[in-house]
Amino acid sequence: MQAEVEEGVIAHRFAGAGWEVPRLLAAMRSASDFFFDSMGQVKLPAWSRGRAVLVGDAGYCPTPLTGLGTSLALVGAYMLAGELVAADGDHRIAFPRNERLMRPYVSRGQQLPPGGVAGYAPTSTLTIRLRALSMRSMNRWPMRRLLSAPFDKAGDIAFPASYRHWTRVQVWLEPESDGHCSTAAPLDSELLSRSTRSPS
Ligand SMILES: Cc1cc2nc3c(=O)[nH]c(=O)nc-3n(C[C@H](O)[C@H](O)[C@H](O)COP(=O)(O)OP(=O)(O)OC[C@H]3O[C@@H](n4cnc5c(N)ncnc54)[C@H](O)[C@@H]3O)c2cc1C
Repeated sequence: MQAEVEEGVIAHRFAGAGWEVPRLLAAMRSASDFFFDSMGQVKLPAWSRGRAVLVGDAGYCPTPLTGLGTSLALVGAYMLAGELVAADGDHRIAFPRNERLMRPYVSRGQQLPPGGVAGYAPTSTLTIRLRALSMRSMNRWPMRRLLSAPFDKAGDIAFPASYRHWTRVQVWLEPESDGHCSTAAPLDSELLSRSTRSPS
């Protein structure tokens, strides 16, 4: 029922648009994987409470308008794990430290590109044409440099030097018949015991 209402909204907005739109609208009606959602950034004053902590979209979703959601989620999980190890598993130390280190990176990642929402979804004929032009020339100078700049922010974070030894720990996971994973290579036992120890 909900999907029917949402499909109705789309059909209404695109009615009379011509081109291939009628065919696309007909395909939408029979699609089994219809997806309709709003976009919203997640901005929380704190990412943790007690022993509960948020990473990725749950804590700081930037939306596809900015891109980088996957980078924030992966880097955020890595940083959180690193800080838990560094704090010997004490979340009272690790969570605030993780937040201090991650906040500037997340804030930069959530900055909308020039033009904001209107730049992503232009509404006038002129701006739609300009957008199509910029898309066609995105792999050429100077557009290439301009358009890649927001994504360069993905690498704009320095990990604490203490994380370096992590790169030497080799772990791979093998799925078992029940769907669970177990380590197939010996873990660095010292690291494992530190990362799984609970604070007293
Ligand atoms: C249309 C679209 C385009 C995007 N394009 C890009 C892009 O080009 N580049 C980019 O970097 N990012 C992009 N993103 C963003 C990116 O997909 C997310 O930022 C990223 O997936 C966040 O990872 P996550 O692990 O935090 O959350 P998710 O990938 O959403 O993972 C959360 C998981 O938790 C599961 N879950 C939810 N509730 C429960 C529950 N109660 N119990 C158990 N499991 C639960 C969900 O099913 C899901 O599998 C895009 C997102 C969308 C929607």
